[in-house]
Amino acid sequence: MKRTNTFAVRPLSDDDEQVLRDLLDASAALWNEVNFQRLMRYNDENGFEGDVFEADTGRLEGKYKGVLGASTAQQVIGKNTEAWKSFFTLKDQYHDESNTSVTEHPEPPGFRGNEDDGRVLKGVIRKDAYTVEWGARSRLETVVGEQLRDRHNSPKSRLRLEVVGDPNWPDYEDQSRLDLWYDETDSTFRASQPVTVSDDSRGTPLADHKAALDIGANNLVACTTTTGDQYLYEGRELFQRFRDTTREIARLQSKLPERRSLSESRKTSSSERLEEGRYSSERIRRLYRKRTRRRDHAQEALCRDLLERLYAEGVDTVYIGGLTDVLDTHWSVETNAKTHNFWSFKKFTERLACTAEEYGISVEVRSEAWTSQECPQCGSTDRTTRHQDTLTCPCGFEGHADLTASETFLRRHTEKAVRPMARPVRFEWDDHNWSESPRSHESPNEQRTDPSTVHRDGNVVSGESA
Ligand SMILES: [Zn+2]
Repeated sequence: MKRTNTFAVRPLSDDDEQVLRDLLDASAALWNEVNFQRLMRYNDENGFEGDVFEADTGRLEGKYKGVLGASTAQQVIGKNTEAWKSFFTLKDQYHDESNTSVTEHPEPPGFRGNEDDGRVLKGVIRKDAYTVEWGARSRLETVVGEQLRDRHNSPKSRLRLEVVGDPNWPDYEDQSRLDLWYDETDSTFRASQPVTVSDDSRGTPLADHKAALDIGANNLVACTTTTGDQYLYEGRELFQRFRDTTREIARLQSKLPERRSLSESRKTSSSERLEEGRYSSERIRRLYRKRTRRRDHAQEALCRDLLERLYAEGVDTVYIGGLTDVLDTHWSVETNAKTHNFWSFKKFTERLACTAEEYGISVEVRSEAWTSQECPQCGSTDRTTRHQDTLTCPCGFEGHADLTASETFLRRHTEKAVRPMARPVRFEWDDHNWSESPRSHESPNEQRTDPSTVHRDGNVVSGESA
């Protein structure tokens, strides 16, 4: 089965650091050149797939192999090819009406920064072009091109880096392509090494339990399993911060000088405004990156936390709803757009599927139409009302809207008996971990009671007088 070791690496000298930076920078430059060729062809041919892959990558490989080494140059090009292929797959799914899993029109692969503003330091090393030694002095050695060695008077054919910390999976049968990048948030070089570990290291065998997920913005994930467990990952704070950052980006963008005023300010030799514009655009880029990284971090941790729990319970299949059906019907267009933007739903399902694969759990995208409005007691979909987290029905039903939705969704897609529900477990994100919230295990009804309507002596004020 597949696992991944992620760790920080440290160059052992300033020269080595320069070699590493140049290696990653050249990798990004090659990525950009290949991507540019392909994007030109894509635009020329109105998005015809075959033509994109006819770009002359051989010439680019020749240009970069001196610096990167031939194997690394090939890997970078190969990774770009994969990015384009997955783009075309998504595009097909998007245009396929019977498929509801892709809700946003996908974008062609992007660029890794540019020469003027700095490239994103990111590279990839072929599986047989690096070695990691684990132990008291863990280290990573990777192939470097001849030109790069000459440039820095580094006679060694391999760059040696110190590995910081211990791996999760030190014993493995095989390793795959290594990703290597510079993390600007904490000025650290990092690597991720996919490995194949023997099936013996698997703890519990998979039973045939099922789980269903409801995805949103206030509650990132509401999950119900056939074992009768319910999990709720709260997202209010994360979503709020995402929106704050988005607002700050918009504010900075409005301060950016337009192209015309740029040239005017040049005429009046007022370089101040230019300077300010440069500062703002740099800050905008940084905010974008920060926003994305924060979300990705929380999502990645969520996938892992959830799947570990599901795995331990013997779940072998997770159903995940296409976000679009539900949201379109009873959420405002604006909320929809915000949720999509925040979630980057496609990315999340990919991440979830990827992590699930490590556990041998399969992820199936199913239509979730109506389940979020359906009353589990009487089956009505048009009489129910949702207020914040609560779903109520004239038949007397009251429950947590997202948890109820995931339960209805689960019942609809599995023939397996669903055990009675235990009290839900709630999780909060603290920038590092998802941990059980202090409000966990409260029933939705207790949860909903607004503290402001409770007197000091404990009497609840009636609706009318409050
Ligand atoms: Zn009802």
